[in-house]
Amino acid sequence: MNKSISYWEREEWLQPADLIVVGGGIVGTSVALFYKEKHPEKDVIILERGVTPLGASTRNAGFSCIGSISEHLADIKLTSLETVKTRIHRRWSGLQLLKSTMGEEALEYQSTGGYELFFDEDLYDRSIGEIEFLNASLLDLLGEENVYEETDYEGVPAVFNRLDGAINSGKLMRILHQRVAGLGVRTLWNSEVDAFQSNRVELKNGMELQAEKIVLAVNGFVSKLCDLDVKPARGLVFITQPIPGLKWRGTFNFNEGYVYFRNVGDRLLLGGGRNVAKEEETTDQFGSNPKIREYLIRFANEQLKLPERWEIELEWSGIMGMTADKEPVITEVEPNVWAAAGLSGMGIAIGMQVAKEVVERL
Ligand SMILES: Cc1cc2nc3c(=O)[nH]c(=O)nc-3n(C[C@H](O)[C@H](O)[C@H](O)COP(=O)(O)OP(=O)(O)OC[C@H]3O[C@@H](n4cnc5c(N)ncnc54)[C@H](O)[C@@H]3O)c2cc1C
Repeated sequence: MNKSISYWEREEWLQPADLIVVGGGIVGTSVALFYKEKHPEKDVIILERGVTPLGASTRNAGFSCIGSISEHLADIKLTSLETVKTRIHRRWSGLQLLKSTMGEEALEYQSTGGYELFFDEDLYDRSIGEIEFLNASLLDLLGEENVYEETDYEGVPAVFNRLDGAINSGKLMRILHQRVAGLGVRTLWNSEVDAFQSNRVELKNGMELQAEKIVLAVNGFVSKLCDLDVKPARGLVFITQPIPGLKWRGTFNFNEGYVYFRNVGDRLLLGGGRNVAKEEETTDQFGSNPKIREYLIRFANEQLKLPERWEIELEWSGIMGMTADKEPVITEVEPNVWAAAGLSGMGIAIGMQVAKEVVERL
């Protein structure tokens, strides 16, 4: 069979574009959106390897959050107080950008607040001891009063964060793709990029496309395409069958945010636990780790005390991109080729803002 391209394909489909975005997750699709809004006359193509986005954006937990106290304390140790303050600000303003761009309805946004649960007395004492300081800092930083508050939930000592919420990640991404399509952006699905040079990308199927500018928005998969210090990190999530009388309603996290759960109607969505097998989870291969699965199931039974005979309805994994200091990387990797990666598990909060920064630099 002669598969060479047709005249019509060459003239109408495969003409050099102004911008090619590789990756149809929240960052890539938002880059296309903001770029097209700024330059309506430009021709923009998104190349996505999956038939749906296939990374983290449709595989996450859907928390819109600025972070828990124990997460901030761990991050201050890893970096500095100033870095953590800047990050909280970035997360908060990123969430405002997400809401104003999409509208709360498209996100199915729920302003639930979030509970950090403590099963460890020492971490609890240290976290409670920082509430006053963090609240004063957040008043300065965000203009928000009394963000964190000591409380309990189902008898478990907790800190409530009144700014946290939940969204429907699948709907966000579906509507975002509809929005860019409406602006004339062409998304070519099932199009995996194998290599790139300035102004040119090669697909795995042998095709080549040209563009004036290229953005690599492939987060946890970026090291396959170029040399950036972003490591893949796999995250496991499962959702239960409906649990009548489910007591855990809202968003919850535990142990520096490593374990997180929320209700989706009467179902419980539970994920994380990467801390149990960090080395093994430094991978860009989808899959399930029995050690983590067992840990999460034990957590659901012993700590959350779910009623007997609850069942997992669906389980999946997603791939994050982590940097050493959890700061995202936005950089020109070759003339006319930019990469945006290393969202470090915070992409709902910071994804659109990272995209906006990319478009400003293009
Ligand atoms: C289990 C889990 C839970 C999470 N929970 C939350 C949460 O509650 N709150 C929060 O803020 N963040 C959360 N995150 C993080 C958030 O989902 C990510 O930070 C965000 O989705 C990253 O968006 P992205 O567009 O940079 O990357 P991705 O969504 O991974 O998009 C990259 C896209 O590039 C495509 N791609 C890769 N390589 C190629 C190639 N060579 N050619 C073409 N296409 C390619 C992929 O298929 C993918 O669709 C979670 C992540 C995971 C995995």
